[in-house]
Amino acid sequence: MPKDSYLHKGLRKKLVQTLRQKGIHDERILAAFLEIPRHFFLDDAFAEQAYVDKPFPIACDQTISQPYTVAMQTQLLEVCKGDKILEIGTGSGFQAAVLHFLGARVYSIERHRLLFKKTTQLLKNIGFGGVRTLHADGMKGLENRAPFDKILVTAGAKEIPSALIQQLKIGGVLVIPVGDRVQEMLRVVRKNETQYDTERHGAYRFVPLLGDLE
Ligand code: SAH
Repeated sequence: MPKDSYLHKGLRKKLVQTLRQKGIHDERILAAFLEIPRHFFLDDAFAEQAYVDKPFPIACDQTISQPYTVAMQTQLLEVCKGDKILEIGTGSGFQAAVLHFLGARVYSIERHRLLFKKTTQLLKNIGFGGVRTLHADGMKGLENRAPFDKILVTAGAKEIPSALIQQLKIGGVLVIPVGDRVQEMLRVVRKNETQYDTERHGAYRFVPLLGDLE
C-alpha cells in the first residue's frame, strides 16, 4: 500500500476548493476528492502532480483526466447509491474509484492490456477491489451485464456507439464526449425504448476512443 500523509491531505483540500470555485457543487463528489489519495494513481515520481488541476500522462500513452473533468463528468451522471455503472476507459482507475466511493457498482473497461493489468492490481492494493475491471472494447458495451443505470465514456468518441445507447436503462444517463479533435460533452437521458434527450455541456479534449484491442 502506498503512503498517504497530511501533506497530501492538505493538497487535496486545496484541490477541492479549486473544484468548488469552478462550479462543482455536489458535496459527495467533493468528499470523494478529499478522501481518495489521487497520488496513488500516478507513478511515484509524479505524485505531486496529482493535486494540480491538469491532465497528466500515464502508461501506454494515455492520460489521467484533469480532476475538474472527472468531477464534472461525475456530476453530470447524478450517481445514486447502488447504481450499476459502466465506465469505458479505465486508464489510471481514478474515475472508477470515485464512482465506487459514491456507492455505485462499477464495471470499467480498458482496451490496453498493460493498463488493464496494472490498474486492476492497483485498485486491489489500495482498497478499491470492488471495481470490476475488464480488458475489452468498450464501444461494444458490456452486453451480459446490461442494462446500466449510468454509462460514462472517458475517451473522445467520433459518434455515440449504438451499443451503449441500447444498454442504457429507461431513465438512465449516458455521459460521453463526442467530436474529432475537440469533444463536446453530451449528457443523454433515455426517455423510453426509442427516444433520448440530449444536453450539451461544453468543450473538452480527450484521448481517442479506439475500437481495436492492444
Ligand atoms: N477514466 C480514466 C481516463 C483514462 S483516458 C482515468 O480516470 O484515468 C481514456 C482511456 O480510454 C485510455 O486508457 C484508453 O486506452 C481507453 N480507451 C480508448 N478506447 C477504448 C475502448 N474502445 N474501450 C475501452 N477503453 C478504451
